[in-house]
Amino acid sequence: MVNLTPVTWYKLSVMKTQYILFLFLFGLISTQQLFAQEKCVCPTCNGEGLNPVPTEWRDCDFCTKGYNTCNTCDGDGQEPCHRCNETGIAQLPCRECNGYGKINGETCGVCGGDGIEEMVCANCEGKGSYNCHSCGQLGKFICNMCGGEGGKLWKGTCPKCNGTGEIICP
Ligand SMILES: [Zn+2]
Ligand SMILES: [Zn+2]
Ligand SMILES: [Zn+2]
Ligand SMILES: [Zn+2]
Ligand SMILES: [Zn+2]
Repeated sequence: MVNLTPVTWYKLSVMKTQYILFLFLFGLISTQQLFAQEKCVCPTCNGEGLNPVPTEWRDCDFCTKGYNTCNTCDGDGQEPCHRCNETGIAQLPCRECNGYGKINGETCGVCGGDGIEEMVCANCEGKGSYNCHSCGQLGKFICNMCGGEGGKLWKGTCPKCNGTGEIICP
C-alpha cells in the first residue's frame, strides 16, 4: 500500500516543476539553435555549391590524352590497299587479248600468254596502302568531347559552403 504523505506529494510536485522547467529550458535552447542555424543562400557560389573558379582537373572519359585511335587504319594512318592485296601491283585482264592469253590461236605478245597485264595499282599508286581516308593519315582523331585537351578543369566544391549552397546566415 502506497503511503502518500504530504511530504511525498511535495516531492512529486517539485519533480514535476523541475521537469516542466527542464522542458522549457530545452525548448528555449532549441529555438535559439534554430535561429542560429537559419540558412542563407551562399554568396560565393550563389547556391550552386560549386566553386566559381574551376580548379579540379578531370581526365576525359572518352579518349586517351585528347585523342582516339582511328579504327579504320588501327592508328598507323595507312589503310591497306585491298584492290592490289597490298602489293602495289594491279593484275588486270590483258587488254590486248582480253585475258584469253591468245589472239587467233597465237600466244599474246603483250602478256606472254597468261592473260594478265600487271599495272601499277591506281588505287594506292603502287604503294600497297594509301592514306587513311577516315583520319587523314593522322591515325587518330581529336576527341570532340574535350577538344583534344585530354581533360578539363571542373568547378570543384564551393569552399565557403562545402557544396551545400547554403551558409548559416551572418
Ligand atoms: Zn557556396
Ligand atoms: Zn585512320
Ligand atoms: Zn594478252
Ligand atoms: Zn593498291
Ligand atoms: Zn577527350
